Amino acid sequence: MTALGLDFPVFEPGWVWLVGAGPGDPGLLTLHAVNAMQQADVVVYDALVDERILNLLRADAKRIYAGKRGGRPSSKQTDISLQLVELAKQGLRVLRLKGGDPFVFGRGGEEGMTLVDHNVPFRVVPGITAGIAGAAYAGIPTTHRDCNSSVTFVTGHGSSGDVPDNINWAALAKGAPVLVMYMAMKHLRRISAELMTNGRSGDEPLAVINQATTPDQGILITTLEKAADDVERAGVEPPAVCILGKVVGLRDRLNWLSPQDDVKSVRNVPFEQVLELISTPSDPLKDQG
Ligand code: SAH
Repeated sequence: MTALGLDFPVFEPGWVWLVGAGPGDPGLLTLHAVNAMQQADVVVYDALVDERILNLLRADAKRIYAGKRGGRPSSKQTDISLQLVELAKQGLRVLRLKGGDPFVFGRGGEEGMTLVDHNVPFRVVPGITAGIAGAAYAGIPTTHRDCNSSVTFVTGHGSSGDVPDNINWAALAKGAPVLVMYMAMKHLRRISAELMTNGRSGDEPLAVINQATTPDQGILITTLEKAADDVERAGVEPPAVCILGKVVGLRDRLNWLSPQDDVKSVRNVPFEQVLELISTPSDPLKDQG
């Protein structure tokens, strides 16, 4: 990182850094995240953190997995938060690595509050959230002047596992031109029915993007009315984000990742070379066959 000629924060022992790992593609990590990974003594990471990203950790860093195992429920949130406290109190540099952004449906707030309660110093490194990145990789801008002047993030899954009961469907149906839905797969049928009952047209385009920004990314374009059936028929697996709104139609022209050119087949430059290039700007593709 010194090659950049920029200063990055020193990870002090006894601190916890809550870091967003982005949606999958390692290239979507922030430089702060890479800096954190190069200094951390221990990393506590989630199921949604792409395995390839863990390669950037120090070889001797201890890895603790805090995600779901074999379909069992996630480790209890309080357990994870207290584990962070415990590791920090041992004088370790504790990296809490979360998929996407730690403060977007990531429970980063809960963990931060436990750290505050126990006087553990912490830093937050935002990450690129899956809803925005998934849409972008599908050629869908989350805002476009002709379509919408607001975007709404909504979760289809509350802490009980059911659709959250505090969602104001009428307000969403009428006042949210673009909905970016997280954790919406399980209850998609109920969610689309609620939106249509409250006045949303069944013909409105809806995109389902699963494993967004990874080599296994899949995109399904459907409508609000047909979404649940189409998802079922296509066997789309989570994690997936759903984008509802007129902006989905822009994909016809903006699908930069052309169908024959998926995430897998794009030419790549090694990461070390990218870091080198940042310090000595030149054309990254010049020497590639
Ligand atoms: N903090 C994360 C969200 C965690 S909630 C973020 O900012 O992205 C988990 C949900 O995020 C999943 O159910 C799914 O809706 C979405 N998600 C996370 N990673 C994803 C990916 N690579 N592709 C599609 N959806 C993803």
